[in-house]
Amino acid sequence: MQLQNLYRSVVMDHAKRKRHYGSLTGEQVVDVFYKNPTCGDVIHLYALIEQNTLKEISFEGEGCYISMAASSMMTEMISGKSLNDIEMLEKNFEALIRHGEAADENIDLGDMQALEGVHQLRARHNCALMPWQALSLLLNTTKKI
Ligand code: ZN
Repeated sequence: MQLQNLYRSVVMDHAKRKRHYGSLTGEQVVDVFYKNPTCGDVIHLYALIEQNTLKEISFEGEGCYISMAASSMMTEMISGKSLNDIEMLEKNFEALIRHGEAADENIDLGDMQALEGVHQLRARHNCALMPWQALSLLLNTTKKI
């Protein structure tokens, strides 16, 4: 139960003090707007990608505390990482939410682990996964250019 409380405070901290919040500007910045159809949460995601590395990431948005905490945690976790590492994190986090356990326990999910309780709340799965869905939309769009 103490662990649950600790997780809850980590989630609320991210929801209240969002990391990487704001827009990015510059010719090389790519962005995407995404809406979670099940809860009405919205996110505007900005990224600067160079040589398969995510140099900078930021977001703006509004919605329930799960979606905002997940967005803050994601941007903090993936900033500066290679696209390959980001894909591994995405797979693990999605498994944590949808199946209740990470696919590979050797991969450190950092603060994102605190959202594992969302697995029990099926209607909120899309809230936790919203920033990742926005990111994959953004990456797919970028690859086509
Ligand atoms: Zn939501």
